[in-house]
Amino acid sequence: MSVQLIEQTAALAAYREQITETLAFVPTMGALHDGHLNLVKEAGRHASRIWVSIFVNPKQFNSKEDLDKYPRDVSGDCRKLQNLGVELVFVPTVDQMYPQGFGTFVTPEYPMVDLWEGASRPGHFKGVTTVVMKLFQIVRPHVAVFGLKDFQQWLILRKMVQDLHMPILMVCSPTVREADGLAMSSRNAKLSSPEREKATLIFRSMKTMEQKILQQGMKDLAALKIELHAMLSQEPALQIDYAEFVSPENLEPQTQFQQKVLVMMAVIIGKTRLLDNLIIQKPSH
Ligand code: AMP
Repeated sequence: MSVQLIEQTAALAAYREQITETLAFVPTMGALHDGHLNLVKEAGRHASRIWVSIFVNPKQFNSKEDLDKYPRDVSGDCRKLQNLGVELVFVPTVDQMYPQGFGTFVTPEYPMVDLWEGASRPGHFKGVTTVVMKLFQIVRPHVAVFGLKDFQQWLILRKMVQDLHMPILMVCSPTVREADGLAMSSRNAKLSSPEREKATLIFRSMKTMEQKILQQGMKDLAALKIELHAMLSQEPALQIDYAEFVSPENLEPQTQFQQKVLVMMAVIIGKTRLLDNLIIQKPSH
């Protein structure tokens, strides 16, 4: 099936009018990798029509340099989406999404928004909720699929849909990793090969924590956090932004392991900031 590319919101709205079947939507910023493609496959389990958007949203970037350097390859992306059952790719311009005079935002305001990514990147989540709300208004999906890789973003978007009574089934899909455990990310391409090698420490450190909790029975997360930081600090080229054990429900720090904890981190290697997380959970039997 060939993928249709639509740039204009009016053209998309007209196309949308004709659709009565269940529609699943995967919003992305492009530079697609297997993590994104897995979201598309997940979308196909929920709906007969799959739409993808590619939009590098200026309102969620804190630095112009980061925005300008964000990788863009729409034709390569469309090739990757061939044969996955994608009907349409929406690629709006910045002017389409934010015309002159644009001034209405969706602002999430509760404690989680100011933690972790929210603390490091002020205004980031307001940019994310605003653009996803706008995309939802234009596309009007029945189902939307996001990645667990951006765990905090997922929680915030799911809450937006609940808080604003939007009739959209929010689906979350597991993180897709390289063979050595590094979470796939469009930012990985910016790593030099020595940096790429060092980046494997992220997943290794999280798996070490998982082993200490589940196999060795360690429960003191405050002590484990010190071990986690020590392990990451062994690599001088790696700078920790945050690395924490938190509740998967509200992202508040946890000091004692009970049934389930999320280890989440952002680290900087060279000039590249990498995010990752892992749910550590006792088997239910
Ligand atoms: P992005 O293009 O980075 O804005 O990501 C678009 C969607 O893909 C978001 O829902 C991300 O959480 C998801 N995503 C990014 N990387 C991965 C990955 N390695 N595995 C699964 N989902 C991912």
